[in-house]
Amino acid sequence: MDRIKVFSPGSITNLSCGYDVLGVCLENRGDEIEVHKSISKGIEIESIDNYNISNNIDENVAGIAAQAMLKNIDIDFGFKIIINKGIKPGSGIGSSAASSAGTVYAINQLLNSHFDNLDLVRFSMEGENFVSGSYHADNVAPIILGGITLVRSISDLDIIKLPSPKSLEVIIIRPNIEIKTSDSRRVVKKKVKIEKMVQQSANLGAFISSLYSEDFDLMSRSVVDEIVEPDRSMLIPEFESIKKISTESGALSCGISGSGPSIFALSNNSETSKIILNNVCSHLDKVKIDYDSFISKVNPKGIKILD
Ligand code: ADP
Repeated sequence: MDRIKVFSPGSITNLSCGYDVLGVCLENRGDEIEVHKSISKGIEIESIDNYNISNNIDENVAGIAAQAMLKNIDIDFGFKIIINKGIKPGSGIGSSAASSAGTVYAINQLLNSHFDNLDLVRFSMEGENFVSGSYHADNVAPIILGGITLVRSISDLDIIKLPSPKSLEVIIIRPNIEIKTSDSRRVVKKKVKIEKMVQQSANLGAFISSLYSEDFDLMSRSVVDEIVEPDRSMLIPEFESIKKISTESGALSCGISGSGPSIFALSNNSETSKIILNNVCSHLDKVKIDYDSFISKVNPKGIKILD
């Protein structure tokens, strides 16, 4: 096999109660990444996008992840990577993760699956570290493993794939502004009161239990964030109104997706998801805020081979 094309989807992280550890793979929005084997060694990148993303292999996360990968294998050929971006950078639905994870996944296919999934997560994290200033696997893990994942540790890479209730849907609203993950991480306070830590651990445990039992009332009570959301939400226009409208329209919960500005709401009923989306969009139209919005089921498979 000399070429491959994959679809690398968007993802939401944190889910209010699992800062830096929970991630959900989405079905909608994503990068299409084509990789060709080339005769000359090394990597070449062509990014097709409207966002001025660099083609330099030391600046584009795809090049950074691919180089981390190729340090671990001795081959006498190289790769040309063509990225058709489908996710706006800095939107909180894992734009950089889609490129880095999709690229190493595609290259691995051309290497006859020489590396395992955890290796791919490790290589992709190099790209995440480059753009955000810290190692985190909460976006790349669900894209590579599919479904909903919990990253227990990034130092000895311990990732748990959780169940994805079939009826669970995610409604995404992305106000059209850019928030860099690195800026959004800066507003997060480094110290947490013990009482909040206790509540957050209880919520995270309860949320995980709700995935196994499909207890959506418990899920609704657990997807709560008293630690990061109060500070981060100030960066997002209309956050409080969107949250209020979503919950009044039947959302199980609503919070910030990743580092924002995307906002997620959860629902376990397609009709309710449409009502939530409609009501939030009418409000944003009224206050004249430009946005992108969509509804997605949880994607249980992750990155998909197109051809
Ligand atoms: P996101 O969470 O959407 O990935 P980040 O702020 O973490 O947002 O990353 C976006 C930054 O990463 C932008 O400055 C962008 O130029 C840079 N970047 C480098 N390579 C890529 C890529 N292939 N896809 C998306 N962003 C990239």
